[in-house]
Amino acid sequence: MSTSSSDCIFCKIASGAIPSASVHEDADCLAFLDIAPLSEGHTLLIPKRHVARIEEMSGEDVARLTRHLPRLAEAIRSAVGATGLNILQNNGRESGQAVFHVHFHLIPRRADDGLGYRWNAGKYAEGRAEQIRAAIRSRL
Ligand code: AMP
Ligand code: ZN
Repeated sequence: MSTSSSDCIFCKIASGAIPSASVHEDADCLAFLDIAPLSEGHTLLIPKRHVARIEEMSGEDVARLTRHLPRLAEAIRSAVGATGLNILQNNGRESGQAVFHVHFHLIPRRADDGLGYRWNAGKYAEGRAEQIRAAIRSRL
């Protein structure tokens, strides 16, 4: 993992080479308004150090980044007068990730705001949940 990637737009934002509407910055991370917001106040929280996916981060680095989520969520939600807020973090193209530098979306929500996603709830076949549970546990 490199500290920055020359073709990464969020590395350029983190270094100040590309401007952003930042709302919080410290030595390790930056939060700034999404340029194409799903709702007013839609904010991205990123580590300054380049890393593509959350699975590539240490628990300590994730903790250093995510410790900002509660205060950011409250500040963002109240600043725009929203009643709800989604926190979303995509890993991999098939998940919807378009920028391959880890980021958390904070998306203010309101009743009847028209936002949403398909939540195609499924059902496990007999015994399948236990197989998957065992597979996950054996990898932890
Ligand atoms: P994702 O699909 O999870 O990778 O989300 C990437 C997000 O980055 C999208 O919501 C974009 O609107 C946002 N984005 C891309 N370029 C910029 C930029 N220069 N400044 C702010 N947000 C950006
Ligand atoms: Zn980057």
